[in-house]
Amino acid sequence: MDYEHVRAVDPAVADALTAEVERQRETLEMIASENHVSPAVLEAQGSALTNKYAEGYPGERYYAGCEYADEVETLAIDRAKELWGAEHVNVQPHSGTQANMAVYFAMLEPGDKILSLDLTHGGHLSHGHPANFTGQLYEVEQYEVDPETGYLDYEGLDDLARAFDPDVVVSGYSAYPRQVDWERIQETAEAVDAYHLADMAHITGLVAAGVHPSPVGTADFVTGSTHKTIRAGRGGIVLTSDEHADAIDSAVFPGGQGGPLMHNVAGKAVGFKEALEPDFADYARQVVDNAKALGARLRENGLALVSGGTDTHLVLVDLRESHPDTTGGEAESALEDVGIILNKNTVPGETRSPFNPSGVRAGTPALTTRGFDEAASEEVADLIYRVVDNHDDVDVKAEVAEDVQALCADFPLYD
Ligand SMILES: *Cc1c(COP(=O)(O)O)cnc(C)c1O
Repeated sequence: MDYEHVRAVDPAVADALTAEVERQRETLEMIASENHVSPAVLEAQGSALTNKYAEGYPGERYYAGCEYADEVETLAIDRAKELWGAEHVNVQPHSGTQANMAVYFAMLEPGDKILSLDLTHGGHLSHGHPANFTGQLYEVEQYEVDPETGYLDYEGLDDLARAFDPDVVVSGYSAYPRQVDWERIQETAEAVDAYHLADMAHITGLVAAGVHPSPVGTADFVTGSTHKTIRAGRGGIVLTSDEHADAIDSAVFPGGQGGPLMHNVAGKAVGFKEALEPDFADYARQVVDNAKALGARLRENGLALVSGGTDTHLVLVDLRESHPDTTGGEAESALEDVGIILNKNTVPGETRSPFNPSGVRAGTPALTTRGFDEAASEEVADLIYRVVDNHDDVDVKAEVAEDVQALCADFPLYD
């Protein structure tokens, strides 16, 4: 990736692009929502389809010259249907938030009611946060995880639903390490005559590979992102039944977006094809095995995990007991110093602020793309522990930084 054409026009941007590739090569990417797409997906995303206006849908566009755009979008749709077994798929949302917006816009009126998980318990901004359009247009009530176990409190959710009488119940989370019982939430939604939106953004790839139960066919609407546990480039998708197909398509376009980003749709098509290969299920299983190994080793070292472990691609470390004087922000920045990139995160029952919370979140999708196995994941757990435990110690951090470089060399990226 030498970006020769960019360099000829714009050396400043070329330098930054080259440095970003180096940064990804020379750090351990453990932000749970990030991954590394293949060179094939990068190429599709950088294709001339970025030039093409294709408002509308395959076979019914508002512009001429759409035959190849149609081909690409149809392939993306057909592959997504196969991956997730959905009756209807819309691959045009520019992001996961746009996918959620399409569902709300299709089914709700301003002032209608959303019941969703609290952000500090693992929810997402687009599920009703006051700073997001959802918090401003709709009335929002929020459920929580059980403070003792860290698992979803399904009974509490059911009680709240009966009291609040929502129009939509939102499931699917940003920082929840356990499997979700979609059927149980569906029962609640049906009991109060609400729609069920299952936002599988984080686990889109795990669901496609069958290593996490699927909400497709259970929830009325399923949204996902295409760049987290599936490596199809940045974007969103909506999956639904034929019954809601037209409502969703109109809500995406013209409801919430103009022309689709056809180069991104091409990235989705290529990434979905890769995910249909048999080795993708191996990858997804390894993601979860690595997260389990990482979590178990962090615990052996004395760190507490929300819910005590993980069934997914991420662990959520609660520093309050083991390191009461260390904040998630301090841990994040000390780890960044050594080349381990993860993010500070609130924990259930958060006692600090969202800007400097008590936990960190760590995921394995990107490391697994580089080829990490359980042993390498355990090694990373030890490095994380050493840094958290010695976050002010320059010498320890220098030693760990060398170990990080050795791991990066053992598991090369984009070579
Ligand atoms: C990541 C995420 C999204 C999508 O985010 P975008 O940045 O808008 O693509 C949506 N919902 C949840 C639960 C997420 O974690």
